[in-house]
Amino acid sequence: MIKYALACEKGHDFESWFPDAAAYDLQARRSLIVCPECGSSKVAKAIMAPAIVGAARANAAPGEVALLDRRRRALRDAVTALHREIEANTDDVGGKFAEIARSMHAGDTPERAIRGRASGAEVEALLEEGVDVLPMPVPPDEFN
Ligand SMILES: [Zn+2]
Repeated sequence: MIKYALACEKGHDFESWFPDAAAYDLQARRSLIVCPECGSSKVAKAIMAPAIVGAARANAAPGEVALLDRRRRALRDAVTALHREIEANTDDVGGKFAEIARSMHAGDTPERAIRGRASGAEVEALLEEGVDVLPMPVPPDEFN
């Protein structure tokens, strides 16, 4: 489906859906497209609306599809950026994460940003002790 913004000879703007560009041309040539406001069949394309929806998604609301895609893209970029941010600004302490995190929480080690590996049980224990551990965000590329 393709949506065209149309205008009649009197300048009335309206929008209409067509199966494809050829269908529009055919209907326009046969004067089958009529202005809903004045009934004129002298109608021409205004600017093409950027809402072109694939046949598989024809049942979904066109605007909704584009919005979701854009939102998902933005979210993906944000998670990737967050992951890079954390990676660039933390020390990788590997398997010593729980030990060092606990030591910092107790005030035995100066506080700094660290990342590393911890088991689920270790993370649970740390959280119970009041250590504010965050799961590392997974960049979307690693989901594939
Ligand atoms: Zn009109």
